[in-house]
Amino acid sequence: MWLLCNGKLQTKDKLLQWSVVDNDNCVLCGWNESVNHLFFSCEFSSQVWRKMLYTNNFHIPNSWDQKLQKIYVDGVDNDFPRRLFKLVISSAVYAIWSERNQRIFQQKCVEMDCIVACITRIVRNRVDAWRGVSKTRKNWLLFIEWGFSISIFEH
Ligand SMILES: [Zn+2]
Repeated sequence: MWLLCNGKLQTKDKLLQWSVVDNDNCVLCGWNESVNHLFFSCEFSSQVWRKMLYTNNFHIPNSWDQKLQKIYVDGVDNDFPRRLFKLVISSAVYAIWSERNQRIFQQKCVEMDCIVACITRIVRNRVDAWRGVSKTRKNWLLFIEWGFSISIFEH
């Protein structure tokens, strides 16, 4: 996440400048690749976000990069929906980045539904280990939607 927030990822637009690659086409959709394109405006990534966020009752922000900066830069808080949202975002970014690398370096590609299922599984496994979530209505709804373990409400 730090690499993403600080614009340090080696996306193809940067590699092209240094002649590491001979084109800057996005392997996910064919458009020009840059950090902003890859994670925000790319049609493939947008679909991942839509599926992850809609099915999980989160709203899609109008301006992704600003929202991300805010979530990652703004101070600490242990609010469950927010912790979950951060985890979903970082898992999705990781999955999009891995998929992009697999397509470039191994010529393998995974279907959208598998990627979404994979992100969901990662998030669920991580959250099931959390404890002490407060029993608010919003948290219960998230618990039901995601199918988390009841033990997240234990102390
Ligand atoms: Zn793309």
